[in-house]
Amino acid sequence: MSYRVSGIPDTLASTVRETLRSPQYGHPAHAEVAGGSGPCRLCLRTFEIGSEERLLFTYQPFSDPAALPAPGPVFIHRVPCARYDALEFPETLRPLPLVVQGYGEAGALLVQELVADRKVEAVLDEVFEFPATRYAHLRNAEVGCFIARVDRGAPSD
Ligand SMILES: [Zn+2]
Repeated sequence: MSYRVSGIPDTLASTVRETLRSPQYGHPAHAEVAGGSGPCRLCLRTFEIGSEERLLFTYQPFSDPAALPAPGPVFIHRVPCARYDALEFPETLRPLPLVVQGYGEAGALLVQELVADRKVEAVLDEVFEFPATRYAHLRNAEVGCFIARVDRGAPSD
């Protein structure tokens, strides 16, 4: 099975950089030198602690209007970076504590699997084995923050 992993929308990230506000909520964004590894939710690379600048803002990851919104804090690079959107799992995320959440119609949570010391592809296989799973979210298993979205990959994508 193949998967498509993608960062947050480009337009949303550029709006945060231009306005220093959360595009979805209007709350001020916070700029700082990275004190943690992140990752950046656009390029999905981890931050260089103590040198790279990042912006913290409130993000709501569900695009389905029928889903219950789940706003939470996320970071992006302060300077422009390239959005991750690929049919392979980003190596930069593998060292992080991850949980995979599979969602169905109307944002219903169908399955939640800790990756722990397993291969993330094996966990994605389990989550997408459910025919009702439409997409999945990767979250940090320790602090719960949204990291990235995963869809079933299609060669024609
Ligand atoms: Zn970035």
